[in-house]
Parts: sequence; structure tokens; C-alpha cells
Amino acid sequence: MNKLFINNEFIESKSTDSIDVINPATGETIDTVTFASEEEVNEAVEKSKQAQLEWEKVPQPKRADHAKLLIPLLEQNKDALADLYVKEQGKTLASAKGEIEKSIHFIDYMTSLSMSNKGEVLQNSRENETILLTKKPIGVTAGIVPWNAPILVLMRKVIPAIVTGCSVVIKPSEATSLITLKIAELIRESTIPAGLVQIVPGKGETVGTQLAQHPDIQLISLTGSMRTGKSVYSESASNVKKVNLELGGNAPVLVTENANIEKAADYIVTARINNAGQVCTCPERIFVHQSVHDEFIKALKDKMEQLTVGDPYDEATDYGAIINEAQLQSIDDKVQSAIHNGANCVTGGHIIDRPGYFYAPTILDNVKPSDLAFKEEIFGPVLPVVTYTDYDEAITQANDTNAGLSSYVFSENLKDVMTASEQLKFGEVYANCEAEEVVNGFHSGWRESGLGGADGIHGLEEYYNTTVSYIRYD
Ligand code: NAD
Repeated sequence: MNKLFINNEFIESKSTDSIDVINPATGETIDTVTFASEEEVNEAVEKSKQAQLEWEKVPQPKRADHAKLLIPLLEQNKDALADLYVKEQGKTLASAKGEIEKSIHFIDYMTSLSMSNKGEVLQNSRENETILLTKKPIGVTAGIVPWNAPILVLMRKVIPAIVTGCSVVIKPSEATSLITLKIAELIRESTIPAGLVQIVPGKGETVGTQLAQHPDIQLISLTGSMRTGKSVYSESASNVKKVNLELGGNAPVLVTENANIEKAADYIVTARINNAGQVCTCPERIFVHQSVHDEFIKALKDKMEQLTVGDPYDEATDYGAIINEAQLQSIDDKVQSAIHNGANCVTGGHIIDRPGYFYAPTILDNVKPSDLAFKEEIFGPVLPVVTYTDYDEAITQANDTNAGLSSYVFSENLKDVMTASEQLKFGEVYANCEAEEVVNGFHSGWRESGLGGADGIHGLEEYYNTTVSYIRYD
């Protein structure tokens, strides 16, 4: 695939820089993606700028009508999209279809917010003067997308931009450019005017950096790792553009002495193996009360050992492949290092010996807070466990992290749950359930997990500038 999507046309890139696309479930090369050159990125931004100036004149409800047309197109093409997605990313077919359905729900909800652009009439101590606060589109935006949820995150960047009167230049992940360009075909089929959505595949350090530094882009929205978030934050300073960052997590899980252990283990395993553990909200560090430790580890072990790992097309498969060899190795390095430091490997703890990139369901008990498997996001099917005796101390340790995206508590005791809900310093607290962000919520991280957020009315607000007009009429 040697294509860029600029001004509603698929054009051939002039660059010679490219990447082989490897099916993570087989290890086979399925295609090659050519990246955009610096000149082509500039052209995409320029066309985006021209298109946005016309688009902001269109009333917001009418803009939403255009965006809504993506819903039937995604529905009609769901099977073909899911098939390509599985081949490029390695997740199960059911998970691929589920993400497309979630994206449709997101578009439906976000476009229904189109009448929500309410300004304010401000109080004034002067007579014969009205003060209006109005919200206006911020202008040209850029969306930088990761590989772990490339369809949903693409929609999280495109739909709010379109609805609010902005335009957007998308840089997909190097690992999931094919599925992104496939969706560009649907954008082309819809009535969304040319130039409002541009797609420029490329490397983070070239195309991503160029977008972050570009003087004509007014908002950059990145979903990615904390490391990339820091780079984009500093690169964006050149024109003081607004920065929206959805970054990595390191979610703590509190399992109290009052938890329903079977249910807790079920939810934790379900949340952890979602997309082979490659989700920003996955449980990453478990704190279990000493009195229920043995029962909990047994329940967790039973469930992890019942999982089926492998062929993403097989309906019986619980999780598929890890995105690439480097990520597979990074998971194994953290696991081996924790075992070397004294952790007890209850189950798993190894790469699965088969073509492609698969990791065994793994439980590490008695890890040390200093282990990388505990301190950093593992992003794989691994559950590190520590034991606690004092709840307040466990909450303090859970909060002792530079990440601040999601957190969990499992307890049948209202006081435990409410204490966690009040005291966990994270953007999300899931109590007695798996992670499942709602489209009308607000997905945002504390500390190094992000700035601003996505979804709901607060997510839409990120795409506005405000003007306060003082209107004297005497
Ligand atoms: P990544 O940070 O490696 O890459 C994300 C995107 O940023 C890619 O498109 C990449 O090419 C680009 N990029 C890399 N360096 C850049 C630079 N210097 N300037 C501009 N762009 C650059 O992340 P990934 O491996 O693709 O995704 C996994 C990470 O994303 C995990 O940490 C995960 O937790 C996080 N994530 C967060 C959320 C959320 O909503 N908070 C959602 C999904 C994924």
C-alpha cells in the first residue's frame, strides 16, 4: 500500500521510506506501507486549513449529519474491515468486530451532541451592554493514533473535530496504517467534504514530530505512551498549540478481605486479557488482602489456566497475538526480571512456542514494588500480585505511581468501595466490574497519564476556543 489520503484522494507517496506490515498471529509479511514525506505532510496541513475555513461556516447540526453517514458505511463493511484489522493487529475477530460496533456507538452519540454547543450570557455591572461567551472551532487539528485500538481512537479524533467545525490530519501508528487507510475509503464515500480528514502514515519521530511542531495546527491530540506524550508536549510548545494527551496507565487493583473472590478473579482476568493485555485501562498491579490471598491466587490461577490463546479467527480463542516481536520481548523481559528478583511465577511466564507473537497467561505472586513488572505498564497478559494488611497503606501504595489513568477495587463492603472511590487518584475507578468506558463519560488521566480527555461533552469541549464579546448598545 503506497497511498496517502489527501483532499479526498488516494495519492502515491513520493517518499521511499516504508515499513513491512507483519501479521502478528503468523509472522508473515502481508504488505508494505509507504510513509508521507515532509512536503506531503505540509500539503495535507495546507489543504486541511483551506477546508476548515469553509467548514466552520456550516451550522453544527448539519456538520453532524455528514459525520453520521459513516455509521451505515461502517455497518455495511464491518466484516471486511474486521478481517483486515485481525490480519494487521492480531486481535481476535470478535474483539475487532466489537471495536467497530463501539466506534459506531461513539459516532452515534457524538453526533447527537451536535446541538450542545451552548454559549453563555455573562453577568455585567455596566448598563446597556451584553456580554456573550461563544465557543468556536479551534481550527486545524492533528490526531496521532496508537495501534492497540486504531479504529475507536481514530473516531475519537475525527468525529469531535468534524462536529465542532475543525479539520483533522491523522497520523496512524506505523503498525496499523492499513486499517486506517481502509477507513479512509469510507470517509471518501461519505459526504464529509474533501480536505477535512487527511491521513498521512509515517514514523512518530518524523511525521508525528512534524505535526506536533507545525505552526498551522492549533490542537494536537495524541493517544500513546507516556514517553511519546512528553515528546509531543514539548514539541508542541513552538506555537503554543493546545495539547490533548491520552497516555499509558499502570492500573492498581485492590482486592479487599470482603471481596467476592470468584467474581473479582473473573472480572480481573476479563479486563487483563482484553486485546491480549494491550489496553491502557488493563489491571497492571494487584494488591490483595493477606487473609484472602491464597483463595484469590487459586481462583486467578484456575481462570488463567482455562484460557485459550492463539488463532484470532477461532471463536474459542480468548486472546490473540501481541503486536510485534519487540513488545513480546519487552513483556518477557519484565516477567523474567521479576522472577529473578524473587517473584513466584504461579502460571505461565513464557513466550508461547508457535509462529507469530503470543505470550502465555501469567501470574506473578509476591512481586516487589521496585520490579519493572510492577512499576511500569506491562501491556501483556500478566498479573503481578502483592499482599497487604492495612487498607490505607495499600491505597497509598496504589497512588504511588506516575501513572493515573484507571484503577479498580473489589469489595462487597460499601465503606471499602467508597473509600477507594474517594481516595484513588486516577481518572477512572472501576468498582466490582471490568473496565468499560462509556461514550458519555470522560476518559482522562492524572499525572503523566495525560492532559484533557476524550468522550462525552467534556471531550467535545477540547475542540473549541472561546470568544467573549462585549456588546454596547446605548
Ligand atoms: P506510542 O507512544 O509508541 O505511539 C503512539 C503514536 O505516537 C504512534 O502513532 C507513533 O508513531 C506516534 N509517535 C511516536 N513518537 C512520536 C513523537 N516523538 N512525536 C509524535 N508522535 C510520535 O504508543 P503505542 O505503542 O502505539 O500505543 C500503546 C500506548 O498507548 C500504551 O502506553 C497505552 O497505554 C497507550 N494508550 C492510551 C490510551 C488512552 O486512552 N489513555 C488508549 C490507547 C493506548
